[in-house]
Amino acid sequence: PIYADFASSAPPLPEVVDAMMEWLGGSHANPHADHLPGHRAARAIDDARQHIGDLLDADPDGVIFTSGATESNNLALKGLAGNCIGGLYFSSLDHSSIVEVAHHLAETGQCRVGRLQHDAQGSISPAAVKSALTTGRGRALVALAHGNNEIGTIQVLSEIGAAISGEGHLFHVDASQTAAHVPISVQDMRISTLSISGHKLYGPAGIGALWLDPTLKTELSPLLHGGGQQGGVRSGTVPTYLAVGLGVAARLARDRMGQARAHLQAMASQFIGALASHGISPVVIGHPSDRLPGHLSVRFPGAGAPDLLARLLPLLAVSSGAACSAGELRASRVLRALGLDEETASEGLRISFGRSTTAKEVAQAAEYMSDAVREVLDSI
Ligand code: PMP
Repeated sequence: PIYADFASSAPPLPEVVDAMMEWLGGSHANPHADHLPGHRAARAIDDARQHIGDLLDADPDGVIFTSGATESNNLALKGLAGNCIGGLYFSSLDHSSIVEVAHHLAETGQCRVGRLQHDAQGSISPAAVKSALTTGRGRALVALAHGNNEIGTIQVLSEIGAAISGEGHLFHVDASQTAAHVPISVQDMRISTLSISGHKLYGPAGIGALWLDPTLKTELSPLLHGGGQQGGVRSGTVPTYLAVGLGVAARLARDRMGQARAHLQAMASQFIGALASHGISPVVIGHPSDRLPGHLSVRFPGAGAPDLLARLLPLLAVSSGAACSAGELRASRVLRALGLDEETASEGLRISFGRSTTAKEVAQAAEYMSDAVREVLDSI
């Protein structure tokens, strides 16, 4: 099938794979060991830190390697919530690695939590953040995804960051979906901690990073205790080949961002145009312009996503917000939180193109999609 699920996982670029191979082979050594091969590995990891710092306009000393964005979000939220008596504020639209952590912290009485209001397009305004923070009970932690994985809406962070940090609160950003596509400056956006994920950045799966303002290192309680690697923030041997791969992915993301963005936007508009030429016009979910490039969250009124996916299975790999659990259809919690009713929400489909997507694939994908929509609507 044609792959159009890059928001779920983007394959590592060839340059990433090449760079990793050296560290899977002859150069292998424990980067924390005090001998020459170990020092060489440690230097390669430091270079990767530098590339990640450059991508985020951040001090590379604050880069902590983790197993992925799920761990990075857990580390930031669980690690800092105990010191945030003002509470943890999050959005219902965010990834489960923020929402479920917030629920856990609230249920176990570790932290007071509150939700940020969003509009029908999934945007969170600086005013909504300010009004959530007016309780004045002390330092709070606000956690927010920069780009929504499901609906593609991007939050405009500078003003939000100023509202949070200006009052002395902490600001955690989940940039898993945006790091490859949208310029980020932790300085300008006044970010305290930020998560990225290797496999959303055309790097390897199984690694991610948490950037944290170096002044927070002593404050953050670690999730993993052990050998005290990475300044004690995250014990465990750093996997050199994965860190090197993430570093190269970060360097290439920065070098090629403008070009990649233009390509992705062109692919998405070609897809919508091709659907229209087949007489099909989807309803777009999320923000019409502040959205991830190449990412389409749509619904075809009257056609349920599971029926469409069943027809598309051998042809086109895309994802649906709805999940079938124990034979029962459950619509996406994110689409429901946007205000869509159960039936409308179960029509949500996500098509996400990538850097390697070609115009030919898009034309073919649009044809498959239009045929599937017509067949489903005809079968009702
Ligand atoms: N946050 C967001 C916004 C994501 O899209 C994802 C992956 N779907 C994650 C966190 C989790 O990332 P990982 O797979 O690296 O744990």
